[in-house]
Formats: sequence, C-alpha cells, structure tokens
Amino acid sequence: MKLYLIPTPIGNLEDMTLRSIRVLKEVDVIFAEDTRTSGQLLKHLDISKPLFAHHAHNEHVGVAGVIKLLKEGKVVGLISDAGTPGISDPGFLLVKTCIEQGIDVETLPGATALIPALVNSGFPLDRFVFEGFLPHKKGRQTRWKAIAEEERTTVLYESPHRLHKALEQIIEFIGPDRPIMVARELSKMHEQMVRGSATEVLTYFDQNPDKIRGEIVIVIAGK
Ligand code: SAM
Repeated sequence: MKLYLIPTPIGNLEDMTLRSIRVLKEVDVIFAEDTRTSGQLLKHLDISKPLFAHHAHNEHVGVAGVIKLLKEGKVVGLISDAGTPGISDPGFLLVKTCIEQGIDVETLPGATALIPALVNSGFPLDRFVFEGFLPHKKGRQTRWKAIAEEERTTVLYESPHRLHKALEQIIEFIGPDRPIMVARELSKMHEQMVRGSATEVLTYFDQNPDKIRGEIVIVIAGK
C-alpha cells in the first residue's frame, strides 16, 4: 500500500516527467480532481487505469474511499487538474490521513505554477511566502495588511476576473511603488511576465484588457 502524489503539467505537456509517467503506469488506481480533464491527459500518455474522482468540495468524504483501497494493499496515484496535488488543490487531507494511519506517501517532484513565477520575478528567493488564493471576502484585507509588512517575497494565485481588484488592493494596502510581477500562462504559448511597480502593472492591464485572461500568479517583493 502506497500513495503517490504525481504532478501533471500546468500547460505544456512536455513538463510531464519520465518518472511521473512511469509511476502512473505502475499504480493500481488513479484518483483525479476532474476525471474528464485527467482522462484526456492519461489518454494522451497512453495510460489506461481505473480512474476515480477525488474532489476538493467533498475531500473529507473522498479520503475514506482512498484509504480503504490503500488498506486493501493497492498502490494509489493522486493527480490534480494541473501542477502538484495539494498545492491549492486537493491532497492535503489525504496525505495527513495516510501519515496518521502509517501508510507510505511519496510526492514526485514536478510542475507547479508558483516556483517558475517566483524564480522569474527576479526578487530575492532565499526565503519566500506562498499565500495561495486569498479569501474572496472575509479575511482578505487582513491578509493584504500582513503581506504589506512581510519582508520575504510573497507569491499568490489569482483568477483573471479578480486581477484588477487585486492590483487595486495591492496599491491600497501595500503601496503604489511596491515592485510586483504578474506571471500569466506559464509554460504556455502566450506566457507573459508583467513587471513594475504596483501602479505600473495596474496601468498596463488597464491599457491592455485583452491580457486579463488565462492563469495568473502574482509575486510581490518583500518590504
Ligand atoms: N496545483 C497547482 C500548482 O501546483 O501550481 C495549482 C492549482 S490552483 C487550483 C490553479 C491556480 O494556479 C491558477 O488559478 C493560477 O493562479 C495558478 N496556475 C496554474 N497554472 C498556471 C499557469 N500555467 N500559469 C500561471 N498560473 C498558473
């Protein structure tokens, strides 16, 4: 019995590692956040395995089913829609439960959005903070205020339709001159890094509304 967490590409299929492909071929069962999305990837990789859903919204319920299979001696692979499972994706509860129950867990290194964005920012990398998605309403301001005081580089995930609001809030709570970078569509054809002060980056997106799309990581320089 063993659980593998297997990263999948965040856009570019070439980012699937050789080991991830081998392990996906060797596991008995694969659990995926979205069986349709993952089904396409597995088909592309010519991997045919029993595939079940492990959603974010019922992670508590789902964990029991995965643990049952593991205890029957099965080797289980967990993948998410993109990137590393457990990073702003389902996985944490399953890993925690496996560890509590003495079940082996192995996470394979691989694609994730935060690392290429962070490294590409040019901001100090010796220490950094990953904020994931900020809460939409309650607690959002508190998080911005904490980030304002943070001396380490901060990385966060944001959806394109909240980008404008996020940039306005960075200006309001952190300051108009704080250097930031918005990384869009990492590893994809239209990959783009927009660097500058918070004001410059907001102005860029106000003047180029066609760029407010795709997947986005925001990196904020430390205080
Ligand atoms: N597990 C994933 C990882 O390891 O990065 C993150 C999953 S989270 C549900 C999805 C968010 O990750 C997106 O909203 C975006 O903020 C970020 N993301 C994923 N792929 C990206 C890409 N190709 N370019 C920029 N950001 C990306």
